[in-house]
Amino acid sequence: MAPGGSCAAQGTTVYEENEQIVAAKAGETLLLLGNEAIARAALEAGVDLAATYPGTPSSEIGLVLDDVAKEVGLKFQYAINEKVAMEVAASAAVGGLKSLVFMKHVGMNVAADALMTLAYSGVRGAMVIVTADDPGCHSSQNEQDNRLFAKFANLPLLEPATPQECLDFTKFAFEFSAFLELPVIVRTTTRVSHARGPVTVGDRATPKRTAHFDREPSRFVMLPSNAREGHKRVLQKMRLAEGISESTPLNRVEDLGRKGDIGIVASGPAYPYLMEFADDLMGKVLKLGLTNPLPKTKIAEFLRGVKRVVVFEELEPYLEDQLRALANEYDIHVEVYGKGQGLVPRTGELDPDLIAEALVRLEMLDPKTVQRLRDVKLPKVPERPPVLCPGCGHRGVAYAARQASRRQDVLFPVDIGCYSLIEYPPTATGDILLCMGSSIGTGAGLAATTDKKVLAFIGDSTFYHAGIPGLIHAVHQNLTMTVCIMDNGTTAMTGHQPHPGIAEGGHPAVDMEGLVRACGVKSVETYDAYDVKALTKAFRRALDRDGVSVIIARHECRLLELRDQKVKGVAPTLYQVIPEKCTKCDFCIDAFACPALVKLEDESVAIDPAFCNGCGVCADVCPPKAIVLVKEVRA
Ligand code: SF4
Ligand code: SF4
Repeated sequence: MAPGGSCAAQGTTVYEENEQIVAAKAGETLLLLGNEAIARAALEAGVDLAATYPGTPSSEIGLVLDDVAKEVGLKFQYAINEKVAMEVAASAAVGGLKSLVFMKHVGMNVAADALMTLAYSGVRGAMVIVTADDPGCHSSQNEQDNRLFAKFANLPLLEPATPQECLDFTKFAFEFSAFLELPVIVRTTTRVSHARGPVTVGDRATPKRTAHFDREPSRFVMLPSNAREGHKRVLQKMRLAEGISESTPLNRVEDLGRKGDIGIVASGPAYPYLMEFADDLMGKVLKLGLTNPLPKTKIAEFLRGVKRVVVFEELEPYLEDQLRALANEYDIHVEVYGKGQGLVPRTGELDPDLIAEALVRLEMLDPKTVQRLRDVKLPKVPERPPVLCPGCGHRGVAYAARQASRRQDVLFPVDIGCYSLIEYPPTATGDILLCMGSSIGTGAGLAATTDKKVLAFIGDSTFYHAGIPGLIHAVHQNLTMTVCIMDNGTTAMTGHQPHPGIAEGGHPAVDMEGLVRACGVKSVETYDAYDVKALTKAFRRALDRDGVSVIIARHECRLLELRDQKVKGVAPTLYQVIPEKCTKCDFCIDAFACPALVKLEDESVAIDPAFCNGCGVCADVCPPKAIVLVKEVRA
């Protein structure tokens, strides 16, 4: 992505790709990611406010909207967490504006407290909630199916299947929300969020900008008496939504052109995967895009016309179970296949192969077709184990913690972020990980219930997001534990978004040390994350201390540091191994494991200059000091 100067607004840099997304005229076709198409849809809907806490696979929506916000006149906020993002977006929509809130699937758990009651009050303008689910856990701690949140909260749900549908469905979601005065959920999964495809855009609308909050406490103050009415109200609106679900082309039956008593139901990316075999299939397909509330009459009619039906959807048997229940309710004798019999996997992502396999097993597809497709398959991408980047400050911090805790029984709760990779050998400093902010809470539980020492790791963004209450709890419970805040000055894992600890773009920083002290922590020490020696000593002292102690290991994410150096024309530093001094002990590889350190044929170690990011921490780690700085500028 290259910065483009032409449309820089009020001192901000708008990237060329994002500029194209903004500038495209109605009828123009762009090659967009599903997430970029959602961002464009929001602009076409005239979104007034967008808020998020960054989370893959939803991150690119924010990367676009944050970049273009000033230019198009929308308010964009990276919130401290998803609940706050939900509340901000809700209040804008209650004030008659159009708002968008988006997050990864587990973010909905954080936002759920606000969401469940928001469904009762509804909104006055329009509010769209995008949840990006992650089948296969590419970058997540679980693979929950957030379609169940729509049923749970009683809110409409849309499931786009392609980047074009990401745009069309999101725009429809804004209209639908305005019509029903309810938030509408758009659920994507990783392949829909991250697939790139042609998207024909429409006209952009201008944001209204200023909310007008008309007081109506009986609707917006959810005291018990009002909540009871709110529950009835949302159920009434969902009955209205069901009528739309019956008539919308988002839910449609497609005849495959060859007669057969076979029915196939598909939603999300399962639909384009399925349609790869359209020329070889018989019967008809029910493509479902508005999947809460379901079009019961349309589905019953579809089921009556077939003898067997197979359901393809990612993750839970959300549609499949409802289809079975509907068949029962309407007394339709039809065999429903899917995840129930293990025919379609309930874990991981679907792909064309898995769909073909199920169709062959049901004798709905000729195995020769599958073989023909397999013959032209591309080679598999080699698997790579996840590793911290060369030069990442987290590696030295975890190494120092390991050194400091040698010959001691220390438990290491860890949290969500790049640094969760310290759980892997050789640092192996990760004993429990649940969710954002949980390292301090689980650490408090371990400190209260075991006789072991506890050293919990948490990143800076995660600390602001959900770590603070755990820290207050640990102090108030008078526990003994150490918390290491690994502060790399960004939300690195999702693409370097800002957080409340960072002052930029007119936003003041919330002082981390001050905040930690205000939580009641008496011992707060800050070190450079690259200073392994000082950190090792600090961890040793902290592990012997009573009460809650906090060590802040601070060093800007090396990737950002190198990017800034490049902009300033500063030559990157490089390190090398002096062969004569290297004892071939392998300590740097076995205990520290920077991927830039490589083993040569003669068993000695060298630094690959193509990978080295010049942090210099390995020079401190090497026992005979065989690693030294070289003054060399990489081409
Ligand atoms: S730690 Fe130092 S001496 Fe040992 S293998 Fe690595 S570079 Fe050589
Ligand atoms: S200086 Fe050493 S630790 Fe840092 S990136 Fe280079 S090889 Fe890795």
